Amino acid sequence: MRVERAFVVMEGAFGLAPGGSSANDAAMRALPVLESRMAVREALPVPPAGWGEGALPLLHDERGRVYRYLRLSVTDRCDLACVYCMPPGGEHEHAVRRELLSFDEAAQVVRTFTAMGIRRVRLTGGEPLVRKDVVRLVELVRRTTEVERIALTTNATRLSELATPLRRAGLDAVNVSLDTLDPGRFAELTRGGSLEQVLAGIHAALDAGLEVKLNAVLMRGVTDLEAPRLVDWAWERGIVPRFIELMPLGEAAQLPRDVRVGADEVRARLGARLAPEGSLEAGAKDHGPARYAMAADGSGRRVGFITPLSNEFCDTCNRVRVTAMGDIRACLASRRAVSLRDVLRTSAGDPERALSWAIWWALAGKERGHRFLDASADEHERVGMSLIGG
Ligand code: SAM
Ligand code: SF4
Repeated sequence: MRVERAFVVMEGAFGLAPGGSSANDAAMRALPVLESRMAVREALPVPPAGWGEGALPLLHDERGRVYRYLRLSVTDRCDLACVYCMPPGGEHEHAVRRELLSFDEAAQVVRTFTAMGIRRVRLTGGEPLVRKDVVRLVELVRRTTEVERIALTTNATRLSELATPLRRAGLDAVNVSLDTLDPGRFAELTRGGSLEQVLAGIHAALDAGLEVKLNAVLMRGVTDLEAPRLVDWAWERGIVPRFIELMPLGEAAQLPRDVRVGADEVRARLGARLAPEGSLEAGAKDHGPARYAMAADGSGRRVGFITPLSNEFCDTCNRVRVTAMGDIRACLASRRAVSLRDVLRTSAGDPERALSWAIWWALAGKERGHRFLDASADEHERVGMSLIGG
């Protein structure tokens, strides 16, 4: 189903004031003025006659990719400002409350996605735990949708207090982002974060019975030497560590290329900890794009690698993103969006019919891949990770 697309630029250009960074690495200096990172919304055509009568189609696109996994951002705000994710002082544009999906709207969005084949939901942000009453949202999604698994990606600053209530509300798992075990470096990288608070949050999550993974984005000359320590620390606690290649998006698009550390380099640094040969193994069916190397000692412990640059996985992409404002973004690397919030707030009658058409249309024409390494594709630095939900 091919339809002419119309684009509406939602926000005008604006300037970011260069701010003082406490970081001591050249890669962390103040960044130049940027244009808006808000979505470019597409006008939605009316659904074809008969749409929504009977069962909804399983979500797939024109390239045959099937979607099973929803990343739902619940806020565009964060209590940290990691140097590769946020401008100093935070993003300059934020949604006000009425612009955010309400909890009821978010649950309706999840219900419609599950009717179209989505099985897993990950709540993200910004920092999802700064959204007021996020525990209530988890409970609502668990109680009113048929989603099989609810996970959350977090910086863990508020996990000490929230791990047990989240578990009780129906959360299955957390991925905690942690790039260093050095308190001073952590404070620099996050522009003021407390490592102690994060470690306490991780322990609270384990105590609450949540499945925990650790996600690290390493940077050369900053954290690249930490890989072995992070793996040992995680393995000692029964946590699966994973390394994500830094993508040249948003703030990271402005960092020098040589700060990027490829998965092969991290594997080499882990040396004898990992089984010497063999390619990386895919994770469980319908999970994300991580591939895993096994421990050399036969213990079954694993290290995950997410390799958007060194081994692009766009051809098998099974994930779809919805921002805190309710924009569905088919690809992380593109600002094109369709506003599910506006569809919900303006549709008379059956919300599932209107929503499912918007979701279908937004994904049907999804581009082949991210083109991070194509210099002529200039969108990347206008994609704010914390605004979309990384
Ligand atoms: N605040 C939460 C957290 O930090 O886990 C959730 C949102 S954060 C945007 C999600 C993940 O995106 C984090 O693991 C972060 O390290 C990662 N991230 C941010 N910018 C990135 C980039 N340019 N390339 C790769 N990963 C990035
Ligand atoms: Fe916040 Fe997560 Fe981005 Fe760090 S990576 S600034 S914790 S949204």
